[in-house]
Amino acid sequence: MGEDLKQKLFNQKKVGWEDLDSNQKQEIFNLSEKYIDFLNNAKTEREFIKKARKMADENGYKDIIEFETLKPGDKIYFVNRDKSMYLAIIGEKSIEEGLHIIGSHVDSPRLDLKPNPLYEDTGLAYFKTHYYGGIKKYQWTTIPLSMHGVIVKANGEKVEINIGEDENDPIFTITDLLPHLAQEQMDKKLKNGIEGENLNLLIGSIPYEDEKVSEKVKLNILNILNHKYGITELDLTSSEIELVPAFRARSLGFDESMVAAYGQDDKVCAYTSLQAMMELQTVKNTAVCILSDKEEIGSMGNTGMESHMFDFFISEILNKLGANKPNLLDKVFCFSKMLSSDVDAGYDPIYASVSDKYNAGFLGKGISLNKYTGARGKSGASDANAEYVAWVRNILEKNNIKYQVAELGKVDVGGGGTIAYILANKGADVIDCGVPVLSMHAPYEVTSKYDVYSAYKTYKAFWNE
Ligand code: MN
Ligand code: MN
Repeated sequence: MGEDLKQKLFNQKKVGWEDLDSNQKQEIFNLSEKYIDFLNNAKTEREFIKKARKMADENGYKDIIEFETLKPGDKIYFVNRDKSMYLAIIGEKSIEEGLHIIGSHVDSPRLDLKPNPLYEDTGLAYFKTHYYGGIKKYQWTTIPLSMHGVIVKANGEKVEINIGEDENDPIFTITDLLPHLAQEQMDKKLKNGIEGENLNLLIGSIPYEDEKVSEKVKLNILNILNHKYGITELDLTSSEIELVPAFRARSLGFDESMVAAYGQDDKVCAYTSLQAMMELQTVKNTAVCILSDKEEIGSMGNTGMESHMFDFFISEILNKLGANKPNLLDKVFCFSKMLSSDVDAGYDPIYASVSDKYNAGFLGKGISLNKYTGARGKSGASDANAEYVAWVRNILEKNNIKYQVAELGKVDVGGGGTIAYILANKGADVIDCGVPVLSMHAPYEVTSKYDVYSAYKTYKAFWNE
C-alpha cells in the first residue's frame, strides 16, 4: 500500500535505459552514431556552421536573402560571418504570438594561436597560444592536438587549415615536465601547475639548410607554410587558428551507452536541435534555431548572442512577412518562448562533494532542466518563472520524455551561465534545457546516449507544440 502511494506521490527520477523496448534502444544508438560522425567533422564553430548550412540546404532551407516575401511553411536561415547561424520555419499563427526559440552555442573551450605565434628556441619551433574559455590548463598538455581555422591574406584570399584529423596527418602537442624534475611544480596549486603563458605548441625541429642564416628552424617552418599555403609570417596576424584535441568521438563503455568526445559542450545540444529542426514540416508558432558563437567567453562580439545580429534576422522576417510596424520586434520577443539548450554538469560520483544529489542532473535520466544558473545567491541568473517551467513540463509529460529538474552544483560551490539571460532580458520566457555532461570543458567530455536522444525528442516536441 505504501509502495503504491509512493509510486503516485514521489518524483521517481528513474534511469531511462530501464523502460526501453529494443526499437527505442536502436533509435537511441542510431541517433548517437550520426551525432558521433557529425562531431568528427565539426570540431570548431566554423566547421559546425559549414556542416549545418549543408544540412539545411539539403533539407529545403534557403538563405533569407533569397526571399523577397515570406509565408507560413517557408524554411530560412542566416549565416553570420561563418561562425554563427539562425534557422527558422515560418509558423501558421501570426508572428505576433511569439517565436519558439531553441538556442545553443557551437564554440567550445580550446587554445587559439596568438597573432604573432611563431618562435624558435634552442632548435625547437613553437606556436604561442592564448586559451579560449574556461579550461584546466594541465589537461591540455601531452595530448595530440589538431589545428583548424583560417588564414586571411591582406588581399582577402582565405586559406582553410585542417591538420591532424586525418590518420596520415602529423599532430601537435604541448610538452610537460618529467616527474623526475617536477618537484617544485608538483607542490604548486593545481591551477598554477601549468602557466597559461607556457601553453606553447611544439611544431618542428629541422633547421633550414644554410650555415649562415639564423633562426633556421623557424625559417624552415615558414618555408613549409609558404609552399603549402602561400603565406608569410605576417599573414598569421590575420588568422583564426584553433587547437583542439585530435581524438575522435567514440562510443564509451562495454555497453557502448555513452559518447566520449571533444566539444560536446555545447555541440550536443546544437546537433540535436539542428537535427530536430531538419525533421519539422509545418509549425504553429514560428520555430527558430540559434547556433551561437562566443558563449564560452561571454557571448560578446558580433557573432555572440549579445550582438544585434539576431534582432536583425528577426526584423528581416517581420519585413519579409509584410508585418513590420513600430515596436513589433519588442512585442515578438516579449511573447516568445525559449529553451536555452546548453549542457548541464552531470553528477559525478567520484566528485560527489560538489553536487547536491537531490538537485543534480544525472547521466541517463533524460533531459536536464535548469530553472536558474548563476552563482552565489543565483547572481546573474535568469530564473525561469514557475508558470513557464510548468508549461515546459506539460510538453515533456504528454510526449513521454524523461526529464530532471536540476541545478549546477552545490550552493556557493561555483556556478555557470548560458545565453538564457540574453533572450530573457528581451522579454522571452526562457529555461535552460540540455544534456548532463561529465568532465565538462575537458579535452574529452562524456554524455549518455539516452540523454542525447532525450534532448532531440525534447527539442522536436517543443517546436511541434
Ligand atoms: Mn555551454
Ligand atoms: Mn561551457
